[in-house]
Amino acid sequence: MKIRRITLYQVKMNLKQPFVTAFGTIHERESLIARVEDEEGATGWGECAAFSAPWYTEETVLTCWHINEDFLIPLILGKTIRHPNEVSGLFQHVRRNPMAKALLEGAVWSLYASKQGQPLAQTLGGTKKQIPVGRAIGIKPMSELLKEIDTALQEGYKRIKVKIKPGREHEILSGIRKHYPELPLMVDANSSYTLKDLELLKSLDQYGLIMIEQPLAYDDLIDHALLQKKLETPICLDESISSLADAQRAIQLGSCRIFNLKIGRVGGIGTAIAIHDFCRDRGIPVWGGGMLEMGIGRAQSIALASLSNFLFPADTGGSAHYWEEDIISPPITVENGYIEIPQKPGLGCEVNLSRMEALTVYLRDFA
Ligand code: MG
Repeated sequence: MKIRRITLYQVKMNLKQPFVTAFGTIHERESLIARVEDEEGATGWGECAAFSAPWYTEETVLTCWHINEDFLIPLILGKTIRHPNEVSGLFQHVRRNPMAKALLEGAVWSLYASKQGQPLAQTLGGTKKQIPVGRAIGIKPMSELLKEIDTALQEGYKRIKVKIKPGREHEILSGIRKHYPELPLMVDANSSYTLKDLELLKSLDQYGLIMIEQPLAYDDLIDHALLQKKLETPICLDESISSLADAQRAIQLGSCRIFNLKIGRVGGIGTAIAIHDFCRDRGIPVWGGGMLEMGIGRAQSIALASLSNFLFPADTGGSAHYWEEDIISPPITVENGYIEIPQKPGLGCEVNLSRMEALTVYLRDFA
């Protein structure tokens, strides 16, 4: 595949309902989409996971634009790439910036899969025909939270994840457990606690949680290892893991028992597969969290989650839960708590060009 053209789109799409985390409220999702084209006119699409502000990790939509325009695109434009795993090698002299890198790497994977005539899931080594999904719910008043859990369960979602923050943990969790004692439930703290909260975090063991995600600092492994020794509830790391080396260190230190594996956060699909395989060989389960992705990013996450060691339901809800109209067709649908793995070559769906046009605030062609 000789890459002859890359188009970067900056897009904005309103969320149907705002998403509240420990950091703030997101009303509209801003993102970057990349389209790569080879000299035979075949195309692939990628989506950037970064948010508008650096509250999840340090990258933002605009830092990713800058890194792509000024550094990454020049490294692959005009190059012949035989396999998407070569992309990370071309990017090796650009330090970190994983979400910026994953945008183009993902587009090259989608191009490669479509040229192989294979669904992306198969190209990645996925074996599942469908994946179970759960619902992630932001911080909201108790009555709304219970209503949303009820709706999600009626729609067939297989587990519920709620965001927690200091001061509201017991209210949220005892409120849920009173109504749903057996519900498969997990929490995400997005780094809201420190080891000073040890007793409080230990008290969460009483709720029978599947896991507690990223309780301590976003870049920590040591304190998580100390905490995990004191907790019955498995810790799952999200923000702390941005490379295979991070995952290896976390396992060595005992910082967690589960990983949340997100393509953007680890710098691309190739690294995500490497972490998956490393964990599989050591009996450490992984699962796929969400980044409020639009359809392209969501299709990639679904393909990755078809790998065998994804052992918990993914955070990947259906398109209709988030958007009036997604940027792909068909949109992603959840039936009875499962998403079918698309069987069409490439991403497994078409990018809706007129919808893309309506959402694009800026675009630039590189050829
Ligand atoms: Mg998380």
